[in-house]
Amino acid sequence: MESTQRFAVTSKSERSLVSLDRITFGGPRFVVIAGPCSVESHSVFAETSAFVVEHGASVLRGGVFKMRTDPSSFQGLGAEAAQIAKQVKSKLGVPFVTEVTDPRQIADLAPFVDAFQVGSRNMHNYYLLKELGQHDKPVILKRGFAGLIKEWLLSAEYISQAGNKNIILCERGIRTFETETRNTLDLNAVPAVKSLSSLPIIVDPSHGTGRRDFVVPMALAAAAAGADGIMVEVHPDPSKALSDGFQALTFDDFRELMEKLKLLLPVLGRTL
Ligand code: PEP
Ligand code: MN
Repeated sequence: MESTQRFAVTSKSERSLVSLDRITFGGPRFVVIAGPCSVESHSVFAETSAFVVEHGASVLRGGVFKMRTDPSSFQGLGAEAAQIAKQVKSKLGVPFVTEVTDPRQIADLAPFVDAFQVGSRNMHNYYLLKELGQHDKPVILKRGFAGLIKEWLLSAEYISQAGNKNIILCERGIRTFETETRNTLDLNAVPAVKSLSSLPIIVDPSHGTGRRDFVVPMALAAAAAGADGIMVEVHPDPSKALSDGFQALTFDDFRELMEKLKLLLPVLGRTL
């Protein structure tokens, strides 16, 4: 890879720290973001959130608006999901991240969302990126499934140049010739981003593999590769999930993941 191109987000040598409330990405902490793919009912979101927080997650996730490839599939509950997320988040007192799919959603989401997620399908949506750059709320910028690492960093540059330096990159798998997994989780991106940029990088092994049984090993591999955290999908009964149930961890799987992370992270000099 050529590394001559200069990115403003890489121009300083010290690591950028990005904080959501009291949770900081890019420092010694390995941050676990967990929750269902979408906020599909009060009971599922409340039960999942309480479980993952009790077992060591420090940030909640859940889609309010879903970017689905098939227009006939579940698109998220929208305003109803926003109400549910607001209630659960304030009860548990834990930061919440969700995807913003359209600049017109920003104002409604901003009061209770601690970081705006830009989904893989929107990495190239420069108007959305520039709009998010006008705010100071952290942005979790997912890698486009056909995005080069350099293009991804240039997308971060759009946010940064518009004024918002609070950017966390998220590797979520790319499309390759391989069909055994939903995507190919490109863990090369972790050291590549660390060498090209000062920004924190997290890994999403749920979308990166699309297979529940691969999520725990690849989450551990992400930690070993030097990621600043992970984002994982969890559901109390994945067979009933309205989206991405096939890749959601069960509660038992999530407990196992956290037990293994607690053993691994000290070796890597990191803490939960
Ligand atoms: C998600 O995190 O729910 C999601 C839709 O991910 P991606 O944009 O990576 O497909
Ligand atoms: Mn999903």
